[in-house]
Order: sequence, then C-alpha cells, then structure tokens
Amino acid sequence: MAKVKSVIVIGAGPAGLAAADRLAAAGLDVLVLEGRDRVGGLCRTVSFSGATFDLGGHRFITKDDEVRNYVFELMGEGLELRRRKSTIRLWGKDFAYPLDFKNLLLGMNPLTTARAGIDYLVAAARQSFAPRADVSFEDWVVNRFGRTLYRIYFGPYTAKLWGRPPAEISADWAAQRISLLNLWDVLLLLLKIKKEQPKTYAAQFHYPRGGIGRIYETLAERARAAGAEIRVNAEVLEVRRKGGRVARVVFRRNGREELESADFVISTAPLPRLAEMIKPAGDGKVVEAAARMGFRSLRFLNLVIDRPAITDNTWVYVPEPKYFFFRVQDLRNWSPSLCPPGKSALELEIACDAGDEKWRMSDEEVKAVCMSDLAAFGLDMADDVEAYRSSFEEYSYPVYDLAYRDKLKTVLDFIWPIENLLTIGRGGLFRYNNMDHSIKMGVLAARHVAFGEDRDAILDIAKEQSVFEAPHKRH
Ligand SMILES: Cc1cc2nc3c(=O)[nH]c(=O)nc-3n(C[C@H](O)[C@H](O)[C@H](O)COP(=O)(O)OP(=O)(O)OC[C@H]3O[C@@H](n4cnc5c(N)ncnc54)[C@H](O)[C@@H]3O)c2cc1C
Repeated sequence: MAKVKSVIVIGAGPAGLAAADRLAAAGLDVLVLEGRDRVGGLCRTVSFSGATFDLGGHRFITKDDEVRNYVFELMGEGLELRRRKSTIRLWGKDFAYPLDFKNLLLGMNPLTTARAGIDYLVAAARQSFAPRADVSFEDWVVNRFGRTLYRIYFGPYTAKLWGRPPAEISADWAAQRISLLNLWDVLLLLLKIKKEQPKTYAAQFHYPRGGIGRIYETLAERARAAGAEIRVNAEVLEVRRKGGRVARVVFRRNGREELESADFVISTAPLPRLAEMIKPAGDGKVVEAAARMGFRSLRFLNLVIDRPAITDNTWVYVPEPKYFFFRVQDLRNWSPSLCPPGKSALELEIACDAGDEKWRMSDEEVKAVCMSDLAAFGLDMADDVEAYRSSFEEYSYPVYDLAYRDKLKTVLDFIWPIENLLTIGRGGLFRYNNMDHSIKMGVLAARHVAFGEDRDAILDIAKEQSVFEAPHKRH
C-alpha cells in the first residue's frame, strides 16, 4: 500500500474517535465527519433539567489490557469503580440477574419447577446422545434448557426485544448472549452437594463521572489537540470510488453538500448504509443484501424524579410482554453525578423499529403508558416526575435473522477488498461490539493505515460476538 498521508473517518463514536486519535498521534492528516450534533455515537450522553442520560446505561469493562490502559490513561481520576446490582422482574417478584437458576426455581410454583427440571434433564440427555441442530434462537435454547424455561423466560424476553418470533432469530444470537450456566450445578447446590456458586458476570464496572459520553468527549479533545479536525452535523452521503479505490466523500453540512478527498477512508457507519453510499454501487446481489440487513431500534424515556432515591438496583430487566419497556435504569446507582442534588433519574428502554408506532408516539403518550406500568410493579411515581424527554437510536442492535450470515458475507466481500477503505465498529461490521471492542478496532485500523499492519486482525475482535466467515481478502 502506498504511504497514506490523509484519512477521512466517518463517525465519531468509540471506533472512529480511537482511530482518529491514534492517526493524529502518528502525524497523519485526519478529518472526522460525524452526522449528529455531538460525538460519542451510541456512547453519547444527553443532559436536561440537571440530569444526565446515556442511551441505556453503558459500563466500561474489558479483558483487553491495551484498551484498559488506553481508557484509564485518558480519563485518569475521572473514572469511578461502581458496583452493579441488577434484577429481573417476573410474576411480580424480583429475581437475581444474571439469571440465578436456584433463585428462579425456588421462585416458581412447584409444579412448574418440576416440569422445568424434567424438561432440562431430557434436553441435556438428548443433547449428549443425539444433539439436534441449532438453527434458530428457539432451537438453541430449547435444545439446552428445555421448553419450559424457554416459554417462561427466554422466549418472551427475546420476542419483546426483537419484535419477531425467536424462531426467526439466528441461533448465533443465543450463543453469544446466554451464558451456559450448568443447571447440574444448580441442582447440586440445591441438594447441598456443592457449595460454590456458579460464576456470574462482572459485579463491578468502571464509569466516568458525568456519563459515558465523557470518555468520548475527552478522546475527541485529545484527537483535536493532536491535530485532527472533527466536524459534527456532517452526514456522509456518498463514498465515490474510482477503479478499485475510494477517491472522494460527499457529505451534507448546514444544508449544503460538500466534498472532501483523502488517501484513505475509515467508516464506522452501519455496514448496509455504507454499501448504499458507495458509488458506483456493487452488483445487484450486494444492493439487495444491504437493503435486507436490518437493525432493531430503541427509544429511551428519560425521567427526572423528585425523590432522593428510588431502588437499590443499577438496572432491572422486565421480560413480560405486558410491560411497555424491557429495562429500567436507575441512574443514581450508576453515579450520583448523573442526578440533580436530592433528586433521581430513571431511564426506561423501549424496543421498537424506527418509524413504528412506539417510535412515533408523543412523549406524553409514552410517559402515560410507562407511569402506569411502573405503578403496576410498585413504583408509583407519576406525581414526582419533574421533567421527561425521549432519546432515540435507530441502529441499536444488528438483526441476526436466519439469513444474516449470507447477507453479511455478500456485503463484506464487496467492501473489504477495497484497498483504501476500512469498515469497522459495531454497525460497521454488523456485530455485537461492546465499546472496548470498537476502541480496539479503531486502534488496529489506525495501525494498518499508519504502519501497514495486517487489516484482517480487525476481524478477530469480538469474534465470539459474531460467527461469520472471513470475507475474501485483498490480493
Ligand atoms: C442499549 C445499549 C447498551 C449498551 N451498553 C453497553 C455497555 O454497557 N458497555 C459497553 O461496552 N458497550 C455497550 N453497548 C455497545 C456500545 O454502545 C457500542 O459498542 C459502541 O458505541 C460502538 O461504537 P462504534 O464507534 O463502533 O459505533 P457507534 O457508537 O454506533 O458510532 C458510529 C458513529 O457514526 C456516525 N455515523 C453513522 N453514519 C454516518 C454518516 N453517514 N455520516 C456521518 N456519521 C455517521 C453515528 O452518528 C455514530 O456517531 C451498548 C449498546 C446499546 C445499544
């Protein structure tokens, strides 16, 4: 690859900003184009009435030493170590989360417990002797946990989150998201044959005072100080290519179309949108695959509450379809810095598809439904709401339907071989990155561009989050 001097980065989320920061530090000429009015991407933070809200609480956890040091060094004393306490609200009771089967089995009526236990044993035996294929989410769960637990918890929660039957969701989603807690351990615990509790998720996490967006505002400041230019309200519309290379980027800023060129483009825009932006476009198969790759969206109802405290949870899962939201974040327990003095803030997460009814309802309508649902599970606080406002995120969760692997491969086979273009990040690679994965991808992309390191190393990040074949490599 010829020596690269200038780079355009599309998107100022964790991946784009990490790339810009490292490229500027290496002395390259960097221009970041961000479509929204602020940096942070899915990790942006918004404030009103003295309270501060993420898009759903975002905790910083990583197993990667390089990313940990990178963020710790960036934020210094600005990061706090917080304790997590989360529960599942089911049948009017609170169950520990991650799902503690002992707690769950003891909380169910004895008949259901017996049925769940028998189902589980039958499924486990069948899986050992004649395993069934895992095509859909439903297959994966039923094959491992039996139908009763699927019907009680996994099925309804998944249907609510995705807005489609779990039989239409790929088994990959389950393999990535459900920890394979062994029910044998639970039975042995119940019978007191075993004393150790099974391993659960991290009980602690790091969180910046003032919201997760602080990390990315600080990163943007540092990238700017190193010479990067970051333009917000600059939505990229086209990535023009000439021969096998991208040559120019067209974007809209203040209602006007502008054009910039650079030696290299790093995109963190959602992959199907990038495929649509590239001109001349890919062949008919690429266009069709991109058009059929979907994202599940989220609406967040942010509430400022005139009460000093609400619960002792950081967040609560709400799987039952009768409730409008699927998760409740209690922000004071994330960090008191998010709430006005003496007050609290709640964030209710609502799964929807961009443009559907839940997305279009007015804030007043959403608030009315949510307050009545909160009251139904013992949190009646309608009279104490001081302010409320929704935030929206169209590209929250890449949809892993049964055909997603083929569509992803078709699109990546078109984009990955373009020598001076990289697509990285959560939407950019259509995989379930956490922010540390996206930061790492940004750092690796910068190393590829600045120092010629192997670009395919990026595809190994968060690989366990996505099971897709490597696209055709460049020759
Ligand atoms: C509800 C929820 C909770 C989460 N909780 C956690 C958590 O607790 N911990 C954790 O580590 N991770 C969490 N994540 C994941 C985390 O948000 C993402 O991994 C991370 O933000 C991805 O960063 P990114 O840079 O890859 O993409 P993004 O954050 O999506 O950034 C992409 C950027 O590109 C911009 N863009 C897109 N198209 C264009 C265009 N055409 N022109 C210009 N700009 C464009 C977007 O506006 C955006 O700013 C959560 C995600 C969700 C949805």
